[in-house]
Amino acid sequence: MLPLRPPPSTLLSALLLLGCDSRPAATREAQPAAVEAKRVTGETNKTGDAPVAAAGPVVPVVAPVVPVVPVVPGVPGVPGVPVVPGVPVVPVVPVDLEALKAELLGEHGAAQRDRVVRGVDQVAKLWRPEDGDLAAFVREQFIADAALLDATFARLEAVFEQIEGHTHEVGREVRRASDVDVGPLLPVDPLLAAYDPGARMIEDLFTTKVGFLVLLNFPLTTLAERDEQGPGYSRREWAERRLAGRFGRRVPGEVRQAVTKASAEADRYVSQYNLWMHHLVDARGARLFPAGLRLISHWNLRDELKGRYGDPEGLARQRLIVTVMERIVTQTIPAAVIDNPRIDWDPITNLVTAAPADSVEADAPARPVVLDNAREADVRYAQLLAQFHAARREDPFVPLAPTAIARSFEIGRELPEARVQALLEQVLRSPLVPRVAEVIVARLGRPLEPVDLWYPGFKASGAPPEAELDARTRARYPDAEAFARGLPKLLTGLGFAPARARWLAEHIRVDPSRGAGHALQALRRGDFARLRTRVGAGGMDYKGYNIAVHELGHNVEQVFSLETVDHTLLAGVPNNAFTEALAFVFQARDLELLGLKEPDAASERERVLNDFWQTWEIAGVALVDVATWHWMYAHPEASPAELREAVVGIAREIWDRYYAPVLGGQGTPLLGIYSHMISYPLYLSDYPLGHLIAFQIEEHLHRSGALGAEFERMASFGSVTPDVWMTHATGAPVSAEPLLRATEAALAAL
Ligand SMILES: [Zn+2]
Repeated sequence: MLPLRPPPSTLLSALLLLGCDSRPAATREAQPAAVEAKRVTGETNKTGDAPVAAAGPVVPVVAPVVPVVPVVPGVPGVPGVPVVPGVPVVPVVPVDLEALKAELLGEHGAAQRDRVVRGVDQVAKLWRPEDGDLAAFVREQFIADAALLDATFARLEAVFEQIEGHTHEVGREVRRASDVDVGPLLPVDPLLAAYDPGARMIEDLFTTKVGFLVLLNFPLTTLAERDEQGPGYSRREWAERRLAGRFGRRVPGEVRQAVTKASAEADRYVSQYNLWMHHLVDARGARLFPAGLRLISHWNLRDELKGRYGDPEGLARQRLIVTVMERIVTQTIPAAVIDNPRIDWDPITNLVTAAPADSVEADAPARPVVLDNAREADVRYAQLLAQFHAARREDPFVPLAPTAIARSFEIGRELPEARVQALLEQVLRSPLVPRVAEVIVARLGRPLEPVDLWYPGFKASGAPPEAELDARTRARYPDAEAFARGLPKLLTGLGFAPARARWLAEHIRVDPSRGAGHALQALRRGDFARLRTRVGAGGMDYKGYNIAVHELGHNVEQVFSLETVDHTLLAGVPNNAFTEALAFVFQARDLELLGLKEPDAASERERVLNDFWQTWEIAGVALVDVATWHWMYAHPEASPAELREAVVGIAREIWDRYYAPVLGGQGTPLLGIYSHMISYPLYLSDYPLGHLIAFQIEEHLHRSGALGAEFERMASFGSVTPDVWMTHATGAPVSAEPLLRATEAALAAL
């Protein structure tokens, strides 16, 4: 969970990240999952939140419906196909596809009809004039013979493992000095880290026609098709769909770069959005926060709010933070106060004054003292619109998922939007919400208000003091080497058989990390998963150990899902939420592995209630994010000011529907505060999904009792759709019920 912040947009960031800092590389499917992947990166840096799911690139698959007309959206002059201004157009290939199909059917027989129609259409949709003679290629490369098709499939599977595995290794090695503590960084290291050996991989496979051979002979599928027919697919059929899925889109480099650029700019905007808290004043001119406290929105603001529960004056401070957040969302914040400790600001009246010289921090950045009260224009929403306009340029090149929203749900997560929405609403509407709220009221001794959206008071008790834990971990793990030697013991402690534990440890290499730690998978057999962990001079402290155990969970999943899966094309798990959930299985047992006793029932109840409250909180935030994107697609010409009004309206409406009955604060736009909405749009749904998936896996493991064997069975199944994976793992599709059941039980036992 804490993080390493990888560089923007490279193969590694495109292929390898997780909600924590681990980075399961994975170029298995569509390489252009770049955008989704990148989102994950940024996240990791700033949220210390619990289970994090993730958008992404672990195994996205593109999958198409077979269109009857060989036409791509965005083509001028084609009725019903809108041309979006500024959006590049995919050229139409001047070939009579119907005649070509008829010719192939004449040659290969009617039994090949479905394959011919599908294959020719799949090729035609992504073929460009510079690719040459489409008809000649199709005649030459269509494979009707079953034995030849089998041999071709096997060849491609073997070769892709090598291409992707070695490319991934090159990417890992160019970043090695940046990620691993190998001594002082050289000036060349950041340049190397930005080199992306996989950036052109998919395009090169298209230009060499390998990609077209795949599209001609293997089926792309929509998520709807996989959901409907997936439970009946053979393993080979799944693997074929993952193979074709790599070539479901062909996005021109300049379009991808525009997305990367918009996203990097939004990230920069967000990462500089600080408030100097000592310079917030109340109506009497009193300063409620200490000098020097500089907080980034929204992460630090939220965490400061959470940290003020024990403070006798906390509520006034928390309310002030909420007012600041509301002013950021409505963009009524005075522009001059952003990251400026030279101006005092009363967020309630919104008046600004020059900060007295003796109140200005010694490390204050040079900033003009502008006292005109001009608001921050609508920069926040201009950034979001720029992301939208860039994403929309990609739409015509992904025929099966022609909006950013569809790509996020159908390619990134492989869960339909409607289903995710239903899962979130199930939590939001749960009758357990007011019951958990009553517990909080009783503990706080006051009615709830909007600040309590972030109530952090469900906490395990009885854990030894951190200093004692530090002493234990330092003694056991004086350096990264010692942690590596200790892997078999950790793994047998978790319930893996001794031989299996040794085998796993042999497939994992431990490196000293520059950052807090991360896990990096291998993509070909014969390579090793990497566990990067930070060990201080005095040995591994407890925090580092806790992270390392989490990362070990990733590595073990990575080893099983590559080495023991029956098709390497299926290596991996459905999406990042799953690998995060599996990593949390390990992390939750870290104290037991140190020889301390398991958490008692009371601690377990607190953990459940905490997760429930966090899931409830972030579910609404996720709905605002998605609704905002629907609004932008419905109003593509909107101005930043119009977008602001829309987002404020959406946030208020969702608050009033689900939160006001519990927390009051009718009409607050607070749910619009998350910075992810601006810099990593459409990512937030992964948080609540991550909680649900983690609970479902944990419930199953508790029931089965055989952690080692069950973990292996689940992780070896590979990258099928989430519901197929979860049904194999636990007997039921992805569901909110395990979290709700656990919450009900925790409430009953209080
Ligand atoms: Zn993780």
